[in-house]
Amino acid sequence: MTQFRNFKMVDYVIYGRGSFSQLDEILAPHRINNAPMVFLVDHFFENHPLLNRIPSKENDRVIFADTTLEPKTTQVDKIAAFLKEEYGKVSGIVGIGGGSTMDLAKAVSLMMTNEGSSADYQGWDLVRKPGVYKVGIPTISGTGAEVSRTCVLTGPERKLGMNSDFTPFDQIVLDPELIHNVPKNQRFYTGMDCYIHCIESLQGTYINEFSKSYGEKALQLCQKVFLEKEIWDDECDDQLMMASYAGGMSIAYSQVGVAHAVSYGLAYVLGTKHGIGNCIVMDHLGEYYPQGTDEFKRMVDKHQIDIPKGLCKDLTEDQFDKMLNVSLSMKPLWENALGKDWAKVMTREKLRALYEKL
Ligand code: NAD
Ligand code: ZN
Repeated sequence: MTQFRNFKMVDYVIYGRGSFSQLDEILAPHRINNAPMVFLVDHFFENHPLLNRIPSKENDRVIFADTTLEPKTTQVDKIAAFLKEEYGKVSGIVGIGGGSTMDLAKAVSLMMTNEGSSADYQGWDLVRKPGVYKVGIPTISGTGAEVSRTCVLTGPERKLGMNSDFTPFDQIVLDPELIHNVPKNQRFYTGMDCYIHCIESLQGTYINEFSKSYGEKALQLCQKVFLEKEIWDDECDDQLMMASYAGGMSIAYSQVGVAHAVSYGLAYVLGTKHGIGNCIVMDHLGEYYPQGTDEFKRMVDKHQIDIPKGLCKDLTEDQFDKMLNVSLSMKPLWENALGKDWAKVMTREKLRALYEKL
């Protein structure tokens, strides 16, 4: 049996303020005859000046991704089916946006070459063929989706990623200028996703020197950005973008923990988005991550962020049951957080009591 995981990573990384301007040059060698380059762009950028900087050629296609809700398998299948019908073949998919758009781009790329529905590939190593060339360009930082080997999708039966060696991007473009104007709350929620990745990775039982090296650096950058800085300047953007990258690298070789396991339940039953959901949970995790929770609360106070409360107060028994099932099915997350005997610690009753506090 294989003992060590052999990780496929992103092939090419370009980093720097203004690096987005090099996109044309980066894409050029990947253009195949008349097959279009498809730019999948977060709908926030409709009528935004960034649109004029996208190096789209005559045959290319810009598609706006509706990110009101997190990506769904149906949304992926629809975009892939449209592209196949319209063009047959495409040169590549370039995702420009936050974690939702980057995940959509990865999934659409894979579904251009793999048969059936993306829902068939939710899980681990189910994807059979490499997708088409894919590029990720974050415009919000924190999720680490730019470096991960998954793309999280809500499907008919579960919220789960297409985890595979074919999933990571061929190229990412890390240009801190692109995240400058993200509204305060959103920047915080997504930034905290990174902070929580660090806490869960560093405090987890799966920790090793590889994950620790990235996790400690990412944590330090998050502390600079969210605790030390008085004003949000260019340096914050540079640091948060690298924190997201390093935080993603940290969990790649370890795992996330309690906040993610609980927040997945909220997402599945109530549609709570990833960043804010993690924050809602982290607010109550003093028992598991005392220092991290305390520091998190200081960050919330400093930036005067609203963390919603009372989400679970009117839930039905059926909804609670679903939430508990989804959450408890995330076995590696619990094992990382609480050790091999996690199920004895995190009983249904205990988890239910935690949900009732949210
Ligand atoms: P998001 O992509 O869902 O976007 C949040 C909001 O910000 C949207 O309304 C969007 O229109 C807007 N937006 C995007 N860029 C902006 C900009 N520059 N200025 C202003 N507004 C902007 O947010 P997110 O937190 O980055 O991503 C969350 C998603 O990432 C979830 O679907 C989650 O499942 C996924 N995720 C994936 C991984 C992974 O490894 N693949 C890891 C963590 C989270
Ligand atoms: Zn996360």
